[in-house]
Parts: sequence; structure tokens; C-alpha cells
Amino acid sequence: MHIIWIIFLIAIGASVGSFLNVVIWRMPRGESIVFPGSHCPSCGRAIKWYDNIPLVSWLALRGKCRFCKVSISPRYLLVEAATALLVVGLYACYYIWHVRSGIQPFDASWPMFLAHAALLCGLLACSVIDIETWQVPLEICWFVSLVGLAVSTIRPDSMLISPVSQPAGAMCLCAGLGLVVAIFLQKYGIILPSFIDADMRCEQEDAAEDKNEAGDEAKKPAPISVAFTSAHGINPRVEILREVLFLTPAILGAIGGYLLVTRCDAAGRAWANLYSLAGGQVGGHLNGFFASLFGYLIGGLWIWGIRILGTLGFGKEAMGLGDVHILAAAGAVCGWMVPSMAFFLAPIFGLAWAIILLMRKGQRELPYGPWLGVAVFVAMIFYDQLLTLFERYTDTMRMLTK
Ligand SMILES: [Zn+2]
Repeated sequence: MHIIWIIFLIAIGASVGSFLNVVIWRMPRGESIVFPGSHCPSCGRAIKWYDNIPLVSWLALRGKCRFCKVSISPRYLLVEAATALLVVGLYACYYIWHVRSGIQPFDASWPMFLAHAALLCGLLACSVIDIETWQVPLEICWFVSLVGLAVSTIRPDSMLISPVSQPAGAMCLCAGLGLVVAIFLQKYGIILPSFIDADMRCEQEDAAEDKNEAGDEAKKPAPISVAFTSAHGINPRVEILREVLFLTPAILGAIGGYLLVTRCDAAGRAWANLYSLAGGQVGGHLNGFFASLFGYLIGGLWIWGIRILGTLGFGKEAMGLGDVHILAAAGAVCGWMVPSMAFFLAPIFGLAWAIILLMRKGQRELPYGPWLGVAVFVAMIFYDQLLTLFERYTDTMRMLTK
């Protein structure tokens, strides 16, 4: 039975990889990922369906365009193969080698597998784009987060997310509403966006425009990893305070929500009643939703906290907002524990790479996003082993989780 699934997943994985190639090429350039159809970036001719079969076509054409014979980057083949490997590898780890305890058989837990596979595909696309442009497209992270929230809400039984207590659920809900309020306040100009983020976006758009004019792969968007210091005419410490202001409604919401259901009897009872509706069924879905939202918030909090503290302390931008969204997405899909582990693992992988760089000169530096991606993947697979390392942290967090 496994072999049928594996063949199926290789085909699906390679096809998704083919789509990721489109995302990786078009998204940083501000192009639509749906229209127009695939075309050769060199001669502009539409690619026939039989030249667009994942893995097979690149090999059959030996990496060259059928019409103009200009070579097609091996990245297309690599991304397709990597996606297929990731999806099949995840299946093997979960259902053949049983590396994580508590996973139900595939027919009961496929929604979770789908969400985890979507997370891995998103991380892969984010990593490749981050390596090429030093930018993480937030839309990919948002999409993965939505998948995590949706699957946790609809099929909480299939997920591996530990449930949250009822007060923690109220905290999540009010913090989430706070974030929505902040987004609206920013949209209508009441809260100003922080320039360290806004400036980077402008530069990214400029780079994308230059790119379109040049229209060939040789000209890569300039790395935008410029450290923003006061030399750029903006004060990063002031800018980061705008982000603190942006987060204030969420923080106040979390505190307010907690106090409301723990200190106010009527609200507490109404909240508990909501959970027990339909024989506790509503509570199950609610808990799945809040467990995912809790993971999203905790995941985002790690890097955003470091970003805020680091920027205030050193006076230049620390960590990118893209990294915040990567861990938030991981939390929405896997719960709060995986991004917490990844937060501590990523610097270890990054450091290992830096040592390799020191030994082999000439290698290019890498942004942080890919290391977060690798760390999330490792935390997903070696979850049980890592859990013993994180016992103290888990005990502390148990106040908020059942
Ligand atoms: Zn061509």
C-alpha cells in the first residue's frame, strides 16, 4: 500500500515543485502567478504541455529550450526534485518509520499530512526566494498559516497540536482581534508602518522593475540586506517603536481576554458554555482553531521579540519581518512547540554554515530564512527527541496549555 502512495506523492510533489518554480520566479518580480501560462524567459515562446512535465521534460530537453536552445536553469529540476523528496520523505518519516508518536494511520490523519506538506513546500519556496533576493514573500507565509488554521479548525482530531486551556483560547482570540484592529489602523494611516520595513519594500519593487526591463536571468535583484542605520536618514530605534505600537492592541487584547474569562464570572461561564455546545463538538473545533492561533502567535513572538529587543539595543535592524512570518506559519501548522524549537535550532545551523564559509572562501553569505526553514523541518521530524531537551520550557508553558 505504501508504494502506491509513494508513487502518487512523487508525481504530486514534482507537480507542486513545478508550480513552486513559477512562484519563485514570478513573485519577487511582482508578476501574476496564474497568467500568462509558462513561457521561455529567453525567447518568450509558450511552453507546450509535453515540455512542461515535471522532472521528465527538463531531462528530455537536456535543460535547453526546444526553440531557442538557451539553457534552462537546473534550479527548475532541483526544486521539482526537492519538493517530491520532501513530500515523500515526510510520508516515510510519519507513516513508514513512525518517527513521531501519536500519528494516526494515514486515512485518519491525511489532513494533517496535507498541512505539514504545505508548510514544507512554503518553506522551500520562501528559502529559495530569500537566497536569491534577501526577501521573504509574506503572501506565502500567510497562505500556509491559513491552511494550518483551517485544517486545525475543521479536523482538529487529525492534528498533532496540543490543546490550549480555555483562558488561553480567550487570550488568542482577543490577541488575534487586536492584530486585525492594528492592520486596519495601519491601513487607514492611524498607525504608520515602520520605515525599516517600508523602505525595503520600495527597494524590492525597484529591483523588480529593473528586472523586468532587463528581462534576463543574468541580472539578479540587488541584495537588500543593507543594515538600516541612522546613516540612511531614519532612526531604527524610532521605527521599531512603531512596530511596538502596532503590536499594542494584540498585547492589550491578550491581557484583556485573559482577565475577562478568569475574573468575570459571567464571561467565564459563557466562554465555558460555548466550548460545551453540541456535546463538546464546538469546543473541539474551537480548541483546534485556538491551538493553531496560539502556535501562530507564539511562533511570531519569538523572532519579533528578538527583532524589537535587538533593534532597540544595537540601534540597527535585527532580524527581518519575513522571519517572523515564517515561524508564525510553522506555529499555525504545527502548534507552538515546533517554532520554539526551530528558534533555538536555526542559529546552530546558521553558525555551522558560517564556519564552512570561513574554511572555504568565496562562498556567498546566506540570509536567515532558509535556516529557519531547515530548523522547522528538523523540529517536525525529530520532535519527540527534541521534546526532552525542551522540558523546562514545556513546563513553563503548561500554565497556558492543558
Ligand atoms: Zn526559448
